[in-house]
Amino acid sequence: MSNKVKIAIIGGGVAGVTSALYLGQLGMDVTLFEKEQSLVSGPPFCHLHAGGNLYREISDKQCVTLLKQSIDFLRFYPFVVDYRPTVIVLPTTDKSTPNDLLPRLRLLKSEYEELIQTDEENKVLGESKDYYKLYGKEELKSLQKQTIKKKPSSCDEWMIPVAQNIDLEKIQFPLIMVQEYGLNLFRLASGAMLALKKEKTVTLHTQTSVIDITEDKNDKKWNISYKKGEEKQEEFDYIINASGFRTGKIDDMLNAPCQRMVEFKAAYVSRWKKHENTLFPEIIFHGERGTPQGMGQFTPYPNGYFQLHGMTHEITLYEDGLVSNSKISCQPELGQDFIEKIENSWKEEETAKRTTSAIEHLSQFIPEFSSAIVGSKPLFGAQQIPGDDPTLRVAEVSFPTEYYARCEIVKVSSVMQMVDALVKEFIKLNYLGESVQGGRDMKYLENLTELEVNNYAQQLCKERDYPHDLSMRNISKGSIG
Ligand SMILES: Cc1cc2nc3c(=O)[nH]c(=O)nc-3n(C[C@H](O)[C@H](O)[C@H](O)COP(=O)(O)OP(=O)(O)OC[C@H]3O[C@@H](n4cnc5c(N)ncnc54)[C@H](O)[C@@H]3O)c2cc1C
Repeated sequence: MSNKVKIAIIGGGVAGVTSALYLGQLGMDVTLFEKEQSLVSGPPFCHLHAGGNLYREISDKQCVTLLKQSIDFLRFYPFVVDYRPTVIVLPTTDKSTPNDLLPRLRLLKSEYEELIQTDEENKVLGESKDYYKLYGKEELKSLQKQTIKKKPSSCDEWMIPVAQNIDLEKIQFPLIMVQEYGLNLFRLASGAMLALKKEKTVTLHTQTSVIDITEDKNDKKWNISYKKGEEKQEEFDYIINASGFRTGKIDDMLNAPCQRMVEFKAAYVSRWKKHENTLFPEIIFHGERGTPQGMGQFTPYPNGYFQLHGMTHEITLYEDGLVSNSKISCQPELGQDFIEKIENSWKEEETAKRTTSAIEHLSQFIPEFSSAIVGSKPLFGAQQIPGDDPTLRVAEVSFPTEYYARCEIVKVSSVMQMVDALVKEFIKLNYLGESVQGGRDMKYLENLTELEVNNYAQQLCKERDYPHDLSMRNISKGSIG
Protein backbone atom coordinates (compact mmCIF):
# COMPACT_ATOMS: atom_id res chain seq x y z
CA MET A 1 0.00 0.00 0.00
CA SER A 2 2.69 2.45 1.02
CA ASN A 3 4.27 2.21 -2.43
CA LYS A 4 1.12 3.52 -4.09
CA VAL A 5 0.55 6.46 -1.77
CA LYS A 6 2.42 9.64 -2.64
CA ILE A 7 3.37 11.92 0.24
CA ALA A 8 4.50 15.53 -0.27
CA ILE A 9 6.49 17.19 2.47
CA ILE A 10 6.74 20.98 2.18
CA GLY A 11 9.79 22.37 3.99
CA GLY A 12 13.20 20.83 4.67
CA GLY A 13 13.85 22.06 8.22
CA VAL A 14 14.26 19.62 11.10
CA ALA A 15 10.55 18.72 10.98
CA GLY A 16 10.52 18.05 7.23
CA VAL A 17 13.81 16.16 6.99
CA THR A 18 12.98 13.95 9.97
CA SER A 19 9.58 13.11 8.45
CA ALA A 20 11.25 12.33 5.11
CA LEU A 21 14.00 10.20 6.69
CA TYR A 22 11.61 8.30 8.90
CA LEU A 23 8.88 7.66 6.31
CA GLY A 24 11.51 6.95 3.65
CA GLN A 25 12.98 4.24 5.85
CA LEU A 26 9.49 2.73 6.09
CA GLY A 27 9.52 2.52 2.29
CA MET A 28 6.96 5.27 1.68
CA ASP A 29 7.03 7.26 -1.55
CA VAL A 30 8.03 10.70 -0.27
CA THR A 31 8.82 13.96 -2.09
CA LEU A 32 10.46 16.73 -0.08
CA PHE A 33 10.24 20.32 -1.33
CA GLU A 34 12.70 22.86 0.07
CA LYS A 35 13.01 26.34 -1.36
CA GLU A 36 16.59 26.90 -0.21
CA GLN A 37 19.75 25.38 -1.68
CA SER A 38 20.40 23.09 1.31
CA LEU A 39 18.38 21.54 4.11
CA VAL A 40 17.94 22.77 7.71
CA SER A 41 18.74 26.39 6.99
CA GLY A 42 15.93 27.92 9.06
CA PRO A 43 16.09 29.18 12.66
CA PRO A 44 19.09 27.85 14.60
CA PHE A 45 19.29 25.44 17.53
CA CYS A 46 22.17 24.79 19.89
CA HIS A 47 20.65 23.30 23.04
CA LEU A 48 19.08 19.89 23.69
CA HIS A 49 16.37 20.75 26.21
CA ALA A 50 16.63 17.45 28.09
CA GLY A 51 14.47 18.61 31.01
CA GLY A 52 13.56 22.17 30.01
CA ASN A 53 15.84 23.63 32.68
CA LEU A 54 16.26 26.86 30.71
CA TYR A 55 12.57 27.61 31.16
CA ARG A 56 11.50 28.28 34.73
CA GLU A 57 8.11 29.58 33.57
CA ILE A 58 6.85 26.33 31.98
CA SER A 59 5.03 23.47 33.74
CA ASP A 60 6.68 20.36 35.17
CA LYS A 61 4.65 18.42 32.60
CA GLN A 62 6.29 20.26 29.67
CA CYS A 63 9.71 19.69 31.28
CA VAL A 64 9.15 15.94 31.61
CA THR A 65 7.94 15.79 27.99
CA LEU A 66 11.04 17.70 26.85
CA LEU A 67 13.22 15.21 28.75
CA LYS A 68 11.57 12.20 27.08
CA GLN A 69 11.56 13.80 23.64
CA SER A 70 15.21 14.82 23.94
CA ILE A 71 16.30 11.29 24.80
CA ASP A 72 14.39 10.01 21.79
CA PHE A 73 15.94 12.73 19.59
CA LEU A 74 19.45 12.00 20.82
CA ARG A 75 19.00 8.30 20.02
CA PHE A 76 17.80 9.09 16.47
CA TYR A 77 20.41 11.77 15.76
CA PRO A 78 23.52 10.78 17.77
CA PHE A 79 25.93 12.56 15.39
CA VAL A 80 24.27 15.93 16.06
CA VAL A 81 24.89 16.00 19.80
CA ASP A 82 27.72 17.86 21.46
CA TYR A 83 28.39 16.01 24.71
CA ARG A 84 28.97 18.74 27.26
CA PRO A 85 26.83 19.63 30.29
CA THR A 86 25.03 22.85 31.16
CA VAL A 87 25.58 24.94 34.27
CA ILE A 88 22.61 26.87 35.66
CA VAL A 89 23.46 30.02 37.58
CA LEU A 90 21.15 32.41 39.44
CA PRO A 91 22.49 35.96 39.74
CA THR A 92 22.18 37.68 43.15
CA THR A 93 19.76 40.13 41.48
CA ASP A 94 17.31 37.33 40.65
CA LYS A 95 14.08 37.17 42.68
CA SER A 96 14.23 33.41 42.94
CA THR A 97 16.79 31.05 44.55
CA PRO A 98 18.53 27.92 43.27
CA ASN A 99 16.70 25.89 45.92
CA ASP A 100 13.41 26.73 44.18
CA LEU A 101 14.66 24.72 41.17
CA LEU A 102 15.43 21.57 43.15
CA PRO A 103 11.94 19.94 43.29
CA ARG A 104 11.79 19.96 39.48
CA LEU A 105 15.33 18.59 39.17
CA ARG A 106 14.47 15.77 41.56
CA LEU A 107 11.37 14.98 39.50
CA LEU A 108 13.38 14.94 36.26
CA LYS A 109 16.02 12.70 37.80
CA SER A 110 13.40 10.14 38.86
CA GLU A 111 11.66 10.33 35.47
CA TYR A 112 15.02 9.68 33.79
CA GLU A 113 15.62 6.73 36.13
CA GLU A 114 12.23 5.28 35.11
CA LEU A 115 12.99 5.75 31.43
CA ILE A 116 16.22 3.80 31.87
CA GLN A 117 14.36 1.04 33.71
CA THR A 118 11.90 0.78 30.82
CA ASP A 119 14.68 0.65 28.23
CA GLU A 120 18.41 0.58 29.04
CA GLU A 121 19.09 2.25 25.65
CA ASN A 122 17.55 5.41 27.08
CA LYS A 123 20.66 5.89 29.20
CA VAL A 124 22.04 8.56 26.89
CA LEU A 125 22.49 11.33 29.48
CA GLY A 126 24.83 9.35 31.74
CA GLU A 127 23.82 7.73 35.02
CA SER A 128 20.50 8.97 36.41
CA LYS A 129 22.12 9.73 39.78
CA ASP A 130 24.37 12.21 37.96
CA TYR A 131 21.52 13.95 36.07
CA TYR A 132 22.28 17.03 38.12
CA LYS A 133 24.95 18.04 40.60
CA LEU A 134 25.11 21.02 42.99
CA TYR A 135 28.18 23.15 43.65
CA GLY A 136 28.56 25.36 46.75
CA LYS A 137 30.91 28.35 47.03
CA GLU A 138 33.65 26.42 48.86
CA GLU A 139 33.70 23.68 46.21
CA LEU A 140 34.02 26.31 43.50
CA LYS A 141 36.87 28.01 45.34
CA SER A 142 38.67 24.70 45.57
CA LEU A 143 38.07 24.02 41.83
CA GLN A 144 39.54 27.46 41.07
CA LYS A 145 42.94 26.12 42.16
CA GLN A 146 42.88 23.16 39.77
CA THR A 147 44.34 23.08 36.28
CA ILE A 148 41.89 23.20 33.38
CA LYS A 149 41.66 19.79 31.72
CA LYS A 150 42.16 19.46 27.98
CA LYS A 151 39.41 16.85 27.78
CA PRO A 152 37.17 17.06 30.85
CA SER A 153 35.89 13.64 31.88
CA SER A 154 33.87 14.37 35.03
CA CYS A 155 31.40 17.01 36.22
CA ASP A 156 34.10 18.54 38.45
CA GLU A 157 36.54 18.79 35.56
CA TRP A 158 33.92 20.55 33.42
CA MET A 159 33.32 22.95 36.29
CA ILE A 160 36.97 24.14 36.58
CA PRO A 161 36.81 26.83 33.84
CA VAL A 162 33.45 28.01 35.22
CA ALA A 163 34.90 28.36 38.72
CA GLN A 164 37.91 30.22 37.35
CA ASN A 165 36.01 32.64 35.14
CA ILE A 166 32.74 33.65 36.74
CA ASP A 167 32.44 36.37 39.35
CA LEU A 168 31.46 34.48 42.49
CA GLU A 169 30.29 37.68 44.18
CA LYS A 170 27.50 38.21 41.65
CA ILE A 171 25.86 34.82 41.85
CA GLN A 172 23.82 32.71 44.25
CA PHE A 173 24.81 29.25 45.45
CA PRO A 174 24.59 26.42 44.75
CA LEU A 175 25.32 26.33 41.03
CA ILE A 176 23.61 23.45 39.23
CA MET A 177 25.26 21.28 36.61
CA VAL A 178 22.69 19.38 34.54
CA GLN A 179 23.05 16.90 31.70
CA GLU A 180 21.51 19.03 28.98
CA TYR A 181 23.82 18.84 25.97
CA GLY A 182 24.55 20.85 22.85
CA LEU A 183 23.13 20.37 19.35
CA ASN A 184 24.86 21.19 16.11
CA LEU A 185 22.62 22.45 13.35
CA PHE A 186 25.27 22.18 10.61
CA ARG A 187 25.86 18.52 11.43
CA LEU A 188 22.13 17.82 11.32
CA ALA A 189 21.83 19.64 7.99
CA SER A 190 24.78 17.68 6.64
CA GLY A 191 23.73 14.22 7.86
CA ALA A 192 20.12 14.68 6.77
CA MET A 193 21.09 15.81 3.27
CA LEU A 194 23.58 12.96 2.80
CA ALA A 195 21.17 10.35 4.16
CA LEU A 196 18.16 11.56 2.17
CA LYS A 197 20.15 11.52 -1.06
CA LYS A 198 20.79 7.81 -0.41
CA GLU A 199 17.17 6.99 0.49
CA LYS A 200 15.71 5.26 -2.61
CA THR A 201 12.05 6.08 -1.98
CA VAL A 202 12.66 9.78 -1.25
CA THR A 203 12.71 12.42 -3.99
CA LEU A 204 14.53 15.54 -2.88
CA HIS A 205 13.73 18.86 -4.55
CA THR A 206 15.94 21.64 -3.19
CA GLN A 207 15.75 25.21 -4.54
CA THR A 208 12.10 24.44 -5.14
CA SER A 209 9.21 26.53 -3.82
CA VAL A 210 5.67 25.26 -3.48
CA ILE A 211 3.60 28.12 -4.91
CA ASP A 212 0.04 26.77 -5.06
CA ILE A 213 -2.08 23.79 -4.08
CA THR A 214 -5.48 22.79 -5.40
CA GLU A 215 -7.66 19.92 -4.34
CA ASP A 216 -9.29 17.39 -6.67
CA LYS A 217 -12.21 16.43 -4.46
CA ASN A 218 -13.43 13.53 -6.66
CA ASP A 219 -10.04 11.86 -6.79
CA LYS A 220 -9.07 12.93 -3.26
CA LYS A 221 -5.75 14.21 -4.60
CA TRP A 222 -3.73 17.35 -3.99
CA ASN A 223 -2.30 19.08 -7.03
CA ILE A 224 0.90 20.88 -6.04
CA SER A 225 2.40 23.61 -8.23
CA TYR A 226 6.06 24.20 -7.58
CA LYS A 227 8.84 26.24 -9.04
CA LYS A 228 12.25 24.79 -9.71
CA GLY A 229 13.48 27.10 -12.45
CA GLU A 230 10.31 26.47 -14.44
CA GLU A 231 6.86 25.87 -12.96
CA LYS A 232 5.64 22.26 -12.63
CA GLN A 233 2.67 20.39 -11.22
CA GLU A 234 2.35 17.02 -9.54
CA GLU A 235 -0.41 15.09 -7.79
CA PHE A 236 -0.12 13.75 -4.25
CA ASP A 237 -2.33 11.80 -1.87
CA TYR A 238 -1.19 13.46 1.32
CA ILE A 239 0.50 16.74 2.30
CA ILE A 240 2.76 17.28 5.28
CA ASN A 241 3.23 20.99 5.88
CA ALA A 242 6.58 21.50 7.61
CA SER A 243 7.26 24.96 6.27
CA GLY A 244 8.28 26.55 9.58
CA PHE A 245 7.30 30.15 10.13
CA ARG A 246 5.64 30.16 6.69
CA THR A 247 3.22 27.36 7.69
CA GLY A 248 0.33 29.83 7.43
CA LYS A 249 0.94 30.37 3.71
CA ILE A 250 0.23 26.71 2.99
CA ASP A 251 -2.78 26.81 5.38
CA ASP A 252 -4.12 29.72 3.33
CA MET A 253 -3.74 27.72 0.10
CA LEU A 254 -5.83 24.93 1.67
CA ASN A 255 -8.30 27.12 3.58
CA ALA A 256 -7.35 25.27 6.75
CA PRO A 257 -8.44 26.56 10.17
CA CYS A 258 -5.56 28.07 12.15
CA GLN A 259 -4.25 30.04 15.13
CA ARG A 260 -0.56 30.72 15.56
CA MET A 261 2.25 33.12 16.34
CA VAL A 262 5.61 33.67 14.71
CA GLU A 263 8.66 34.96 16.57
CA PHE A 264 11.91 36.38 15.21
CA LYS A 265 14.98 35.89 17.45
CA ALA A 266 18.73 35.95 17.07
CA ALA A 267 21.82 34.54 18.76
CA TYR A 268 25.25 36.11 18.31
CA VAL A 269 28.59 34.54 17.50
CA SER A 270 31.61 35.83 19.42
CA ARG A 271 35.26 34.84 19.59
CA TRP A 272 37.23 34.75 22.84
CA LYS A 273 40.81 34.14 21.79
CA LYS A 274 42.07 33.85 25.37
CA HIS A 275 40.13 30.61 25.73
CA GLU A 276 40.45 29.10 22.29
CA ASN A 277 41.77 25.86 23.77
CA THR A 278 39.45 25.63 26.77
CA LEU A 279 36.39 23.40 26.78
CA PHE A 280 33.58 25.12 28.66
CA PRO A 281 30.18 23.70 29.53
CA GLU A 282 27.20 25.78 28.43
CA ILE A 283 26.38 28.39 31.09
CA ILE A 284 22.93 29.83 31.72
CA PHE A 285 22.48 32.97 33.83
CA HIS A 286 18.80 33.04 34.67
CA GLY A 287 16.84 36.29 34.48
CA GLU A 288 13.44 37.66 33.66
CA ARG A 289 12.67 37.50 29.92
CA GLY A 290 12.17 40.84 28.20
CA THR A 291 13.83 42.89 30.98
CA PRO A 292 17.44 44.18 30.98
CA GLN A 293 18.20 41.22 33.29
CA GLY A 294 16.92 38.69 30.73
CA MET A 295 18.52 35.24 30.73
CA GLY A 296 22.08 35.07 29.35
CA GLN A 297 23.16 31.92 27.50
CA PHE A 298 26.83 31.20 26.85
CA THR A 299 27.17 28.31 24.39
CA PRO A 300 30.65 27.00 23.59
CA TYR A 301 31.88 25.87 20.18
CA PRO A 302 35.46 24.75 19.38
CA ASN A 303 38.40 27.10 18.97
CA GLY A 304 37.19 30.00 21.09
CA TYR A 305 33.79 30.56 19.44
CA PHE A 306 30.84 31.23 21.76
CA GLN A 307 27.23 31.62 20.74
CA LEU A 308 25.36 34.11 22.92
CA HIS A 309 21.70 34.67 23.72
CA GLY A 310 20.42 37.47 25.93
CA MET A 311 16.67 37.51 26.49
CA THR A 312 16.48 41.30 26.33
CA HIS A 313 15.14 43.49 23.54
CA GLU A 314 18.65 44.77 22.76
CA ILE A 315 20.01 41.28 22.14
CA THR A 316 17.94 38.18 21.24
CA LEU A 317 14.40 39.53 21.39
CA TYR A 318 12.94 42.33 19.29
CA GLU A 319 10.14 44.82 19.87
CA ASP A 320 7.47 43.66 17.36
CA GLY A 321 9.36 40.37 16.92
CA LEU A 322 6.34 38.33 18.08
CA VAL A 323 3.24 38.47 15.83
CA SER A 324 -0.06 36.57 15.57
CA ASN A 325 -2.11 35.68 12.52
CA SER A 326 -5.20 37.70 11.59
CA LYS A 327 -8.75 36.66 10.76
CA ILE A 328 -8.07 37.00 7.05
CA SER A 329 -4.81 35.03 6.86
CA CYS A 330 -3.19 32.12 8.68
CA GLN A 331 0.21 33.71 8.07
CA PRO A 332 1.38 36.11 10.82
CA GLU A 333 3.08 39.07 9.15
CA LEU A 334 6.57 39.90 10.41
CA GLY A 335 7.86 43.44 9.76
CA GLN A 336 9.82 43.99 6.54
CA ASP A 337 13.11 44.50 8.41
CA PHE A 338 12.89 40.92 9.77
CA ILE A 339 12.07 39.50 6.35
CA GLU A 340 15.01 41.46 4.93
CA LYS A 341 17.32 39.81 7.49
CA ILE A 342 15.94 36.33 6.76
CA GLU A 343 15.93 36.59 2.98
CA ASN A 344 18.92 38.84 2.36
CA SER A 345 21.37 39.94 5.01
CA TRP A 346 22.15 41.81 8.22
CA LYS A 347 23.66 45.26 8.26
CA GLU A 348 27.19 45.13 9.65
CA GLU A 349 26.46 47.91 12.18
CA GLU A 350 23.56 45.96 13.66
CA THR A 351 25.61 42.76 13.90
CA ALA A 352 28.36 44.69 15.69
CA LYS A 353 25.95 46.52 18.00
CA ARG A 354 23.92 43.50 19.09
CA THR A 355 26.92 41.17 19.37
CA THR A 356 28.70 43.76 21.52
CA SER A 357 25.60 44.10 23.72
CA ALA A 358 25.53 40.31 24.08
CA ILE A 359 29.23 40.24 25.05
CA GLU A 360 28.59 42.97 27.65
CA HIS A 361 25.56 41.10 28.98
CA LEU A 362 27.59 37.95 29.62
CA SER A 363 30.62 39.90 30.87
CA GLN A 364 28.56 40.99 33.88
CA PHE A 365 29.18 37.49 35.20
CA ILE A 366 32.28 36.45 33.22
CA PRO A 367 34.40 39.64 33.53
CA GLU A 368 37.27 38.61 31.22
CA PHE A 369 34.81 37.76 28.47
CA SER A 370 34.67 41.52 27.79
CA SER A 371 37.78 40.99 25.60
CA ALA A 372 35.70 38.84 23.17
CA ILE A 373 35.03 40.16 19.66
CA VAL A 374 32.41 39.59 16.95
CA GLY A 375 32.96 36.06 15.59
CA SER A 376 30.66 36.06 12.57
CA LYS A 377 27.20 37.13 11.46
CA PRO A 378 24.42 36.09 13.87
CA LEU A 379 22.51 32.80 13.91
CA PHE A 380 18.88 33.84 13.61
CA GLY A 381 15.45 33.16 12.24
CA ALA A 382 11.72 33.13 12.75
CA GLN A 383 9.87 30.23 14.24
CA GLN A 384 6.26 29.19 14.54
CA ILE A 385 4.39 28.80 17.84
CA PRO A 386 0.98 27.16 17.45
CA GLY A 387 -1.91 28.65 19.46
CA ASP A 388 -1.73 31.83 21.51
CA ASP A 389 0.62 31.00 24.39
CA PRO A 390 4.10 32.44 23.68
CA THR A 391 5.64 30.37 26.51
CA LEU A 392 4.64 27.07 24.86
CA ARG A 393 7.70 24.86 24.38
CA VAL A 394 6.20 21.50 23.44
CA ALA A 395 4.19 21.07 20.24
CA GLU A 396 4.20 18.50 17.47
CA VAL A 397 1.60 18.07 14.73
CA SER A 398 -2.09 18.66 14.04
CA PHE A 399 -4.46 17.30 11.38
CA PRO A 400 -6.68 20.26 10.48
CA THR A 401 -8.34 18.74 7.38
CA GLU A 402 -8.39 15.38 5.60
CA TYR A 403 -5.12 14.19 4.07
CA TYR A 404 -3.25 17.12 5.55
CA ALA A 405 -0.80 17.18 8.48
CA ARG A 406 0.66 20.37 9.89
CA CYS A 407 3.94 20.04 11.75
CA GLU A 408 4.57 22.94 14.12
CA ILE A 409 7.39 22.13 16.48
CA VAL A 410 8.77 24.71 18.92
CA LYS A 411 11.82 22.71 20.02
CA VAL A 412 13.66 20.39 17.65
CA SER A 413 13.51 17.46 20.10
CA SER A 414 9.73 17.21 19.49
CA VAL A 415 10.26 15.72 16.02
CA MET A 416 10.27 12.07 17.10
CA GLN A 417 6.89 12.36 18.81
CA MET A 418 5.79 14.27 15.73
CA VAL A 419 6.71 11.39 13.39
CA ASP A 420 5.01 8.90 15.73
CA ALA A 421 1.79 10.91 15.36
CA LEU A 422 2.21 10.94 11.56
CA VAL A 423 2.71 7.18 11.52
CA LYS A 424 -0.40 6.70 13.68
CA GLU A 425 -2.38 8.75 11.17
CA PHE A 426 -1.01 6.70 8.26
CA ILE A 427 -1.91 3.44 9.98
CA LYS A 428 -5.45 4.79 10.41
CA LEU A 429 -5.56 5.58 6.68
CA ASN A 430 -4.23 2.09 5.91
CA TYR A 431 -1.07 3.53 4.32
CA LEU A 432 1.08 1.59 6.80
CA GLY A 433 0.72 -1.63 8.80
CA GLU A 434 0.27 -1.44 12.57
CA SER A 435 3.57 -3.13 13.35
CA VAL A 436 5.59 -0.02 12.46
CA GLN A 437 4.07 2.18 15.18
CA GLY A 438 6.71 3.60 17.54
CA GLY A 439 9.61 1.81 15.78
CA ARG A 440 13.05 3.36 15.82
CA ASP A 441 14.86 1.80 12.90
CA MET A 442 17.96 3.92 12.31
CA LYS A 443 19.33 2.09 9.29
CA TYR A 444 20.09 5.41 7.70
CA LEU A 445 23.00 5.79 10.12
CA GLU A 446 24.70 2.71 8.65
CA ASN A 447 25.16 4.57 5.38
CA LEU A 448 26.72 7.67 6.96
CA THR A 449 30.32 8.09 7.99
CA GLU A 450 31.61 10.62 10.53
CA LEU A 451 34.05 11.91 7.92
CA GLU A 452 31.44 12.69 5.26
CA VAL A 453 29.16 14.34 7.85
CA ASN A 454 32.10 16.48 9.03
CA ASN A 455 33.19 17.43 5.53
CA TYR A 456 29.77 18.41 4.28
CA ALA A 457 28.96 20.25 7.54
CA GLN A 458 32.10 22.33 7.03
CA GLN A 459 31.13 23.04 3.44
CA LEU A 460 27.69 24.20 4.62
CA CYS A 461 29.31 26.63 7.04
CA LYS A 462 31.30 28.07 4.17
CA GLU A 463 28.26 28.32 1.88
CA ARG A 464 26.31 30.09 4.63
CA ASP A 465 29.19 32.38 5.53
CA TYR A 466 29.95 31.06 9.04
CA PRO A 467 33.33 29.92 10.41
CA HIS A 468 33.79 26.19 9.82
CA ASP A 469 34.52 25.77 13.55
CA LEU A 470 30.77 26.04 14.17
CA SER A 471 30.25 22.67 12.51
CA MET A 472 32.76 20.89 14.73
CA ARG A 473 32.08 18.93 17.88
CA ASN A 474 33.70 20.08 21.08
CA ILE A 475 33.83 16.60 22.43
CA SER A 476 32.50 13.15 21.53
CA LYS A 477 30.36 10.73 23.47
CA GLY A 478 31.57 9.27 26.72
CA SER A 479 33.36 12.38 27.92
CA ILE A 480 30.98 13.19 30.73
CA GLY A 481 31.36 11.41 34.00
C1 LIG B 1 17.40 32.21 17.88
C2 LIG B 1 16.75 30.85 18.01
C3 LIG B 1 17.37 29.89 18.81
C4 LIG B 1 16.79 28.62 18.95
N1 LIG B 1 17.43 27.70 19.72
C5 LIG B 1 16.90 26.46 19.86
C6 LIG B 1 17.57 25.49 20.65
O1 LIG B 1 18.64 25.74 21.21
N2 LIG B 1 17.00 24.26 20.75
C7 LIG B 1 15.81 23.93 20.12
O2 LIG B 1 15.36 22.80 20.26
N3 LIG B 1 15.18 24.84 19.36
C8 LIG B 1 15.68 26.09 19.21
N4 LIG B 1 15.04 27.01 18.42
C9 LIG B 1 13.81 26.59 17.73
C10 LIG B 1 14.16 25.81 16.45
O3 LIG B 1 15.03 26.57 15.66
C11 LIG B 1 12.89 25.50 15.67
O4 LIG B 1 11.98 24.82 16.49
C12 LIG B 1 13.15 24.59 14.47
O5 LIG B 1 14.28 24.96 13.74
C13 LIG B 1 11.93 24.59 13.57
O6 LIG B 1 12.14 23.66 12.55
P1 LIG B 1 11.06 23.48 11.40
O7 LIG B 1 11.50 22.32 10.59
O8 LIG B 1 9.69 23.43 11.97
O9 LIG B 1 11.10 24.85 10.58
P2 LIG B 1 12.24 25.48 9.62
O10 LIG B 1 13.58 25.09 10.03
O11 LIG B 1 11.91 26.92 9.52
O12 LIG B 1 11.98 24.77 8.24
C14 LIG B 1 10.96 25.16 7.34
C15 LIG B 1 11.52 25.05 5.93
O13 LIG B 1 10.46 25.20 5.01
C16 LIG B 1 10.96 25.88 3.86
N5 LIG B 1 9.79 26.43 3.17
C17 LIG B 1 8.90 27.33 3.65
N6 LIG B 1 7.94 27.57 2.74
C18 LIG B 1 8.23 26.80 1.66
C19 LIG B 1 7.60 26.60 0.39
N7 LIG B 1 6.47 27.24 0.04
N8 LIG B 1 8.17 25.72 -0.48
C20 LIG B 1 9.31 25.05 -0.14
N9 LIG B 1 9.95 25.21 1.04
C21 LIG B 1 9.40 26.06 1.92
C22 LIG B 1 11.90 26.92 4.46
O14 LIG B 1 12.84 27.36 3.50
C23 LIG B 1 12.53 26.15 5.60
O15 LIG B 1 13.75 25.55 5.25
C24 LIG B 1 15.58 28.30 18.28
C25 LIG B 1 14.96 29.27 17.47
C26 LIG B 1 15.54 30.53 17.32
C27 LIG B 1 14.84 31.53 16.44
